[in-house]
Amino acid sequence: MPKSGFVAIVGRPNVGKSTLLNRLIGEKVAIVSPVPQTTRNQIRGILNRSEGQVIFVDTPGIHQPKHRLNERMMKQVHAAFDGLDLVLFMTDAASSRNEEEFFAFDLVRKKGIPSFLLLNKIDLIRKERLLPLIQTYAGRADWKEIIPVSAQTGDGVDLLIHSIFAVLKEGPPFFPPDQYTDQPERDLVVEFIREKIMLNTRQEIPHSVAVIIDRYEETPALVRIYASILVERESQKGIVIGQKGSMLKRIGSEARRDIERLLNTKIYLELFVKVRVHWRDDEAILDEIKGNRRES
Ligand code: GDP
Ligand code: MG
Repeated sequence: MPKSGFVAIVGRPNVGKSTLLNRLIGEKVAIVSPVPQTTRNQIRGILNRSEGQVIFVDTPGIHQPKHRLNERMMKQVHAAFDGLDLVLFMTDAASSRNEEEFFAFDLVRKKGIPSFLLLNKIDLIRKERLLPLIQTYAGRADWKEIIPVSAQTGDGVDLLIHSIFAVLKEGPPFFPPDQYTDQPERDLVVEFIREKIMLNTRQEIPHSVAVIIDRYEETPALVRIYASILVERESQKGIVIGQKGSMLKRIGSEARRDIERLLNTKIYLELFVKVRVHWRDDEAILDEIKGNRRES
């Protein structure tokens, strides 16, 4: 009997979640055949093996410090755990720990969902640092496994996959075996733009940025995309636009390159930066971007 299940990858920005996901799936996760979104979790990638099917999901908000989450987001975070079979909590073994992580640990523990701790980027640290690190984290939650990995080199990833299937229960696949994501194209476009903002502004503003697609026009020759970048302060607007618009230009052209590769067509991308002081309390905006508010 094959196995199947839903597995969340959570952790602070930059710990290596996307890198791991791409390595697990073996593709830069991209569209095959979009299906309607039924759960509150965003499906990021689907791993098909002879042992069965693992559906990796993103749980927006879980790795944000509690004080930054409003009530609505908090509810979403809790709801995102329903139906999960396993949580992979990822941390960066090469960087110092961060109190934000413990909020997520507590959530995971309270929900009683089996969880693994992944110590990523072990290629960057000396072997003798690993054991003390494992001991530090071991007491913080009831980990089923603590697995050192390098998403970059692939070290430990086979063991991880093996351990995941050991936890999952028998069940039929949820998706056809040739499908590896269910993300709608527009969500990926938003994701790519957000990624470039974060990459280029070096995380100075990640929590207060939202991206909204204003217009999306498909023509035979190209796709025209008009998107707004919402920030909370004038100073952030300045950062995103940069000297004489240089930052926004770089964000735009890097995002365009990725989107062209994704959609396999020419893209015209126009970005606008707008200050919306209270966008996080604005229900209309939250509805618009629901599912797109993710960490990098
Ligand atoms: P995310 O924000 O958690 O999705 O992190 P990313 O996957 O975007 O990775 C953040 C940065 O860490 C990128 O520059 C990656 O290349 C780098 N990175 C991810 N995994 C590893 C790893 O195992 N080793 C090293 N050296 N770098 C890594
Ligand atoms: Mg990422």
